Amino acid sequence: MSEPIVLAFDIGGTDLKAGRVTRRGDVRGFRRSPSRAREGLDALVDAVREMAEALGGPAGPAIAGVGCPGAIEPRTGTLLGLTPHLALTAGTPLAGRLAGALGMRVVADNDAHCHALAESTLGAAKGARVSMTVTVGTGVGCGIVIDDRLFRGAHGSAGEIGHLPLGSAGPVCRCGVPGCLEPWAGGSGLVARAQEAGLDAADARAVMTSLDPRAHGVRQRFVEALAQQIAAAAGVLDPEVIVIGGGVAQAGEALLGPLRRAFDAQVTDVVRTHARIVPAALGEQAGVAGAGLMAWAALAAPRSEVSPRS
Ligand SMILES: [Zn+2]
Repeated sequence: MSEPIVLAFDIGGTDLKAGRVTRRGDVRGFRRSPSRAREGLDALVDAVREMAEALGGPAGPAIAGVGCPGAIEPRTGTLLGLTPHLALTAGTPLAGRLAGALGMRVVADNDAHCHALAESTLGAAKGARVSMTVTVGTGVGCGIVIDDRLFRGAHGSAGEIGHLPLGSAGPVCRCGVPGCLEPWAGGSGLVARAQEAGLDAADARAVMTSLDPRAHGVRQRFVEALAQQIAAAAGVLDPEVIVIGGGVAQAGEALLGPLRRAFDAQVTDVVRTHARIVPAALGEQAGVAGAGLMAWAALAAPRSEVSPRS
């Protein structure tokens, strides 16, 4: 008999990534398609259903794990607040709608939380008692794992370092608050800051690789801002490992080297000596692996599941 697998989805503003995930977190049949999340909930649900059909369904427990931007209430899978990355309203019963469409139980959590669970279980934070995984993509996310368990907070929004304040003088964040980290350190913020500096930057990769001195200035501010907020979180959490992932983090050591130096200048001796900043190990499949692992974990704790009839 073949190994049991569950369905797993990683919803982004642009892409829907998906695969079938084993109990150990191995991803089989990884696929990507447009998420249609910016068209609204019905379009997103259609995209997920079509993807599930393309994957061929689970071979084992009828359950799916879903990662999605935003604060998602862990027991009900409801999107609690607005997320600037998707055209979904606060109170959207995300897991409930997907459970109805897929005809199976669905567990949903914040996408960065899923990344963190995967890096902790299989990747760069494996073996660490306390780890943070920071995702630097279109926005900035973070998941916290303590003693092999995700720390979600009371409402599912723990780890939102993209919305820690840098100071009220900063640009207004898409969450509506002036001075958040994300307008400096998310991919779309990077492009906006570069354009303000007079650069013709098409995307975050162009900002990260440009030789123009103005791009260098934008990158410096980006690294300082990101390091400041990771340092603030590390001061609270005392992590062993801080994993840096997401599309912007593909810049590798060109980002991690300056980030470590800026981080070291802002933390206590204990954190500087013992906390390691490392690149993510799992690449673009991390969110899918984490969503699948979350589904497997939910089978052992059924109160966090949403059934097709709920
Ligand atoms: Zn914000």
